[in-house]
Amino acid sequence: MRTVKKLTGLGVDAQIVLVNKNPYHYQTTELHEVAAGTKEPADITFDVARTFANKKNVQVLIDEVIRIDQDAKSVELKNNAPLQYDYLVNSLGFESETFGIKGANENGWPIVDIDTALAARKHLEDTLKRYKSSHDPNDLRIIVCGAGFTSIEYIGELVYRMPKLAKQYGFPLDEVKIECIEAGPRILGMFDQNLSQWGVEYLEKKGVNFHVSTPITEVKSNAVMSNDQEFTANTIIWTTGVRGSHVIADSGYDQKRNRVVVADDLRVNGQPDQFLIGDVSGVANPGNGRLYPTTAQISIAEADCAAQNLAALLKGQPTKKFVFNALGTVCSLGPKVGIASIDMFGHWNLKGWIAGVAKKLIADRSTLELTNIRTMLGND
Ligand code: NAD
Repeated sequence: MRTVKKLTGLGVDAQIVLVNKNPYHYQTTELHEVAAGTKEPADITFDVARTFANKKNVQVLIDEVIRIDQDAKSVELKNNAPLQYDYLVNSLGFESETFGIKGANENGWPIVDIDTALAARKHLEDTLKRYKSSHDPNDLRIIVCGAGFTSIEYIGELVYRMPKLAKQYGFPLDEVKIECIEAGPRILGMFDQNLSQWGVEYLEKKGVNFHVSTPITEVKSNAVMSNDQEFTANTIIWTTGVRGSHVIADSGYDQKRNRVVVADDLRVNGQPDQFLIGDVSGVANPGNGRLYPTTAQISIAEADCAAQNLAALLKGQPTKKFVFNALGTVCSLGPKVGIASIDMFGHWNLKGWIAGVAKKLIADRSTLELTNIRTMLGND
């Protein structure tokens, strides 16, 4: 969506078809808030067709992409006839990754789109509500699988909302147990030690138990196994990571976990009419040759670069190399608090409400750039 918005501002003479599965677009960085119930879907979504209502050369088509026929240069859709293209920008996003762990699909609640976030929230609320009549301690136990950003940000929202839920559903707050189970040796290991420690202690003080070096090997209907160790709970949130859209593998790309390593101008090697950006794209850091992690920040930069390079091709000009200057990392620990490592005008480690403000400013700026000031202020 951002690429289209940018392209329309670059004065290209082209017919653009934007295919989107839903009539709305959502900020993926805020899905954990919908799952925890601190935000409603309307707070993080906006209408795609309305965003482009006054752009005559943009057609919005609500449909699901099934496959890309790279030889025939066509996009196969679920409900409409295939679309032929001269140029394709593929930004089909991510899906939950289970790494083939037994029972993860069936028994874990992922947070990967609006529907799954709402389903996870409904299950949590129903289970907490049930405690009043069941008195089953597992109804008050929540296991969060993995301790990546999604898990930690979800837990931050959850501990913020829990006192209100306890009041609403009449369960004892001090009997709620949130267990976060992580395979790696550290929590928030991407931050400096003092910052990650502050974040971990902040959540521990709110009753969260972290288990590191504890790889999950199986997920049962009300238990998570790490080899012989068993953790029981009636709510199991599955946030152990993501993979790109299955359409990538289904379309025969040379891929790993549905991510394709692209050329330095974001085009697909051997397919000069295709750009791949976001979670389906593997972009190498020229500094060390390793792929950048797929974050919202890099996806935004890729969308802008793909728009500029596509405009250049349409004007018969050469493309430019993608350059990424990371501005840092922010991890929220609830609606108002967080930790942040910012690289702007020097290096800044922030913790507490100031990091929460930084996160909100970044989210608002992203919404503003995609839509308009009314949407950002919540008046749409
Ligand atoms: P992630 O890959 O960042 O984290 C998943 C975590 O689960 C890892 O710590 C991993 O060690 C753990 N894990 C995997 N398998 C496990 C197992 N079997 N048992 C126990 N633990 C296991 O995934 P994510 O949190 O969904 O984030 C996806 C991407 O989006 C990442 O690149 C992330 O940086 C980005 N993101 C960024 C932000 C932010 O910048 N604030 C917020 C959300 C997501």
